[in-house]
Amino acid sequence: MTAVKVLVVGAGVGGLTTALSLHAAGAEVVVVDAARTLLPLGVGINLQPHAVRELTELGLGDALEATGVQTREMLRLDRHANHIIGHDRGLFAGYSWPQYSIHRGELQMLLLDAVVERLGPEAVRTGLIFESYAEDEEGVEVALHARTGGAPVRMRADVLVGADGISSAVRRQLHPGEGAPLWNGIRMWRGIAETDPFLTGRSMIVAGSHAHGRLVFYPISKTAESRSRALVNWVAEVRVTPETRLETETADWTREGRLEDVLPYYADWDFGWMDVPRLIADSPQILEYPMVDRDPLPYWSRGRVTLVGDAAHPMYPIGANGGSLAIIDARVLAWELSRTDDPVDALKAYEAARLDEANAVVLACRDMAADRLLDTVAERAPDGFAAISDVLTAAELTDMNDAWRRTTDMDTESLNSRPSWTPRR
Ligand SMILES: Cc1cc2nc3c(=O)[nH]c(=O)nc-3n(C[C@H](O)[C@H](O)[C@H](O)COP(=O)(O)OP(=O)(O)OC[C@H]3O[C@@H](n4cnc5c(N)ncnc54)[C@H](O)[C@@H]3O)c2cc1C
Repeated sequence: MTAVKVLVVGAGVGGLTTALSLHAAGAEVVVVDAARTLLPLGVGINLQPHAVRELTELGLGDALEATGVQTREMLRLDRHANHIIGHDRGLFAGYSWPQYSIHRGELQMLLLDAVVERLGPEAVRTGLIFESYAEDEEGVEVALHARTGGAPVRMRADVLVGADGISSAVRRQLHPGEGAPLWNGIRMWRGIAETDPFLTGRSMIVAGSHAHGRLVFYPISKTAESRSRALVNWVAEVRVTPETRLETETADWTREGRLEDVLPYYADWDFGWMDVPRLIADSPQILEYPMVDRDPLPYWSRGRVTLVGDAAHPMYPIGANGGSLAIIDARVLAWELSRTDDPVDALKAYEAARLDEANAVVLACRDMAADRLLDTVAERAPDGFAAISDVLTAAELTDMNDAWRRTTDMDTESLNSRPSWTPRR
């Protein structure tokens, strides 16, 4: 591969993995981000085995193992902690790579450290806001401005990658007039608190229903685990009535939430092995984010410009997919760029490889088939049950299982056996 020059807008999980992958493919990469400083923001996210494979092949396997928690199982429970269905995860489900539950900010810092170490400190430039691009025969001219002082900055590259998240300005230029993200009426609160380890010590729990309060929680810190404690990430999701809807819901991952808004939905949730109100109340910070996505796009690549991660396919964060799919995008993009000297062809090939698959996940998350069945359990057995077979038919349980596979899991054998996307240089 000749040293193609790539400008990546956005230093989140998608943008930083794009930089590492392109560097491994021999490209010259600069990443810009609007943030003045990259801070370890957010709470927990999950990396599925297909994404862990890619990060491992980028040489980050040990760093992941030292930071995140290898998820053992995912259990769906009712709001009284009665067992509905369970799935083994990662290595325990037969994949050759684990699933990790990890702090999003720690993952971002781990990727940032690797970028700085491999590409040099000049490769990541913060405090630069992307405005627009203009493409010509030779490349892409990009207009930005400095966050402090507003001075205009111009940069040139052979390829521009928009990794600038759900409110992507690169996407806005590719697809003008799209408007704000689409909200489905579910409010989400997130937080982290330290507790005793629960169940296997590596269990991910999805409990309750959107109608009355759904709660997802799982441990995310290897450091806490080594102290025989659990740093537990929780996400509370509640479908609100028109009266309790907020006037506007903005897709801002840093917006503060209020304990008094979320706690009442979970005030009497005591699982024995987890005191849910205490978990929520003990969290030093609560964040609020609306459950938003965008309609699938007909294309991501035009000429020398393309999109990755949430800029390309923002989805409801209910299938544990957002970070993982951004990582896969990054690796496939670098792989395709390494296979031809024509960047326009490479960007088309990347889109052909990824767009339909990612769009299908956006729609599967929107369909929420597994969550509809959790609502059904809450309706049919509001006070709990002795056996799930008294509440759901065998066919309904199979549907729930299949729905989770459609949104998140890929075929074990095809992942374990497919050739690597590491470019041969
Ligand atoms: C601060 C933050 C906190 C988050 N917390 C969580 C969480 O707790 N749980 C969860 O499931 N997901 C969270 N997410 C989303 C999650 O990171 C993504 O769904 C997933 O990792 C895919 O990431 P991405 O790199 O495509 O986008 P993002 O992680 O959204 O990264 C986009 C990056 O682009 C930068 N950017 C945006 N616009 C511009 C511009 N015009 N010019 C230059 N740079 C720009 C942003 O500063 C950001 O760093 C968070 C995202 C952010 C930005």
